[in-house]
Amino acid sequence: MDPLKNWAGNLAYSTGDVRYPESLDEIVDIVRSSRKIKSLGSQHSFSAIADSAHRQISMKKINSVIELDEQRNTITVGAGIRYGDFCEFLDARGYALHNLASLPHISVAGACATATHGSGRKNGSLSTAIRAVEIVKANGDVVTIDALDPSFPAVTVALGALGVISKVTLEVLPNFQMTQVVYRNMPVDELMENFEAVMSGGYSVSLFTDWQDGKVSEVWIKEANEQDNTTAPSEYYGAILAEKNLHPIEDHSPENCTEQMGKLGTWYERLPHFKMGFTPSSGEELQSEYFVAFEHGAEAMAAIEKMREAIFPHLYISEVRSIAADNYWMSPFYEKDCVAIHFTWKPHWPEVQKLLPGIESALAPFDVLPHWGKLNSIEPSILQSRIKRLADFKELMSDYDPEGKFMNKYLKQKLF
Ligand SMILES: Cc1cc2nc3c(=O)[nH]c(=O)nc-3n(C[C@H](O)[C@H](O)[C@H](O)COP(=O)(O)OP(=O)(O)OC[C@H]3O[C@@H](n4cnc5c(N)ncnc54)[C@H](O)[C@@H]3O)c2cc1C
Repeated sequence: MDPLKNWAGNLAYSTGDVRYPESLDEIVDIVRSSRKIKSLGSQHSFSAIADSAHRQISMKKINSVIELDEQRNTITVGAGIRYGDFCEFLDARGYALHNLASLPHISVAGACATATHGSGRKNGSLSTAIRAVEIVKANGDVVTIDALDPSFPAVTVALGALGVISKVTLEVLPNFQMTQVVYRNMPVDELMENFEAVMSGGYSVSLFTDWQDGKVSEVWIKEANEQDNTTAPSEYYGAILAEKNLHPIEDHSPENCTEQMGKLGTWYERLPHFKMGFTPSSGEELQSEYFVAFEHGAEAMAAIEKMREAIFPHLYISEVRSIAADNYWMSPFYEKDCVAIHFTWKPHWPEVQKLLPGIESALAPFDVLPHWGKLNSIEPSILQSRIKRLADFKELMSDYDPEGKFMNKYLKQKLF
């Protein structure tokens, strides 16, 4: 079989040997009988984190809702289910998740493995909803790890390095309704002076910018609400309320975006920027994303703005979000609230590849960390020096996987 490609098509995986188990027994058999193997979610990572030169185990068919536990307020799902496939189920029964990424198309285990996040000063990454995972270790043993287990802070953002996650139990909240409004053209000076207030201006706030003309082109504010938001002020820190739905990339059609204009809708139709049945983002693109401690967010943006002339020809759009701290060892948000500075690049890899080191040097004073699922070129020794719990994670890797069955080139390069 020809190797699969990732969603963006920038990466053809290095093996055509892909297994598609349909049950826990099949996962165990495949893991036991493989010398080396790598879990595959919905293939949305831009980096080679899910690649294998040997064999992949796609979790596409491990995709059912297993149990909604209304006593414990949890839902247990098959690891390969996509968020968009069970949000409606949850909502219909009165429940919600605390947050979603910009798109609902990604698998639960794949998203959590890379600390995928949405936005919100009080919202942790999607992994922070995890209450337990069932994981198949290298020797085929199946263990369930919950919050009381010492390895919980490692399995919650595990980079696919500890085993094949077969089930995930997530915390659910009472469902809620939301509205979304968009403001246009916030002057950067206003943002810099009021960074904390702007980023705290809603349940989830995203800034979109192409770094041009001293302005942030769009500010998306998602609020928990009980009715249409008809009273949003016409101006927000110098930005003007939009009069129609917008795509984050201004000249793209908003057809694939979630409803804006203050119209009330359920949580899963407002938290992501993109609708389930539509292509998210641009499609033909590359992505990079960097995280700095929240208190350095404005300064970090100013450092990137200085590079705008070099960046602009290759950029569709940048997005700036905030993520609350967690205590997961491999999470970029380990013990610190963060600001995320994201780049949706045009598919100009040779040029983008040349730009990344400059961006990373500009953000180095803030001990920048990258998104595990996106493109970066941070020198591994520097990256490693910034991950406080790396030694603990590696120790657990050798316990769960002594022979390196789940190791791939990406993990070897980045972590060793
Ligand atoms: C258009 C687009 C928009 C995006 N928006 C956001 C965003 O808003 N926020 C954000 O943070 N990221 C975003 N991303 C990045 C994306 O969320 C991450 O790359 C995520 O990891 C993709 O999940 P996946 O299911 O496709 O996993 P894959 O890319 O298939 O795999 C990612 C990792 O998960 C591991 N893995 C997968 N399944 C399992 C399993 N069952 N057991 C153990 N390990 C497993 C793999 O081995 C690999 O290490 C976006 C990506 C795209 C393409």
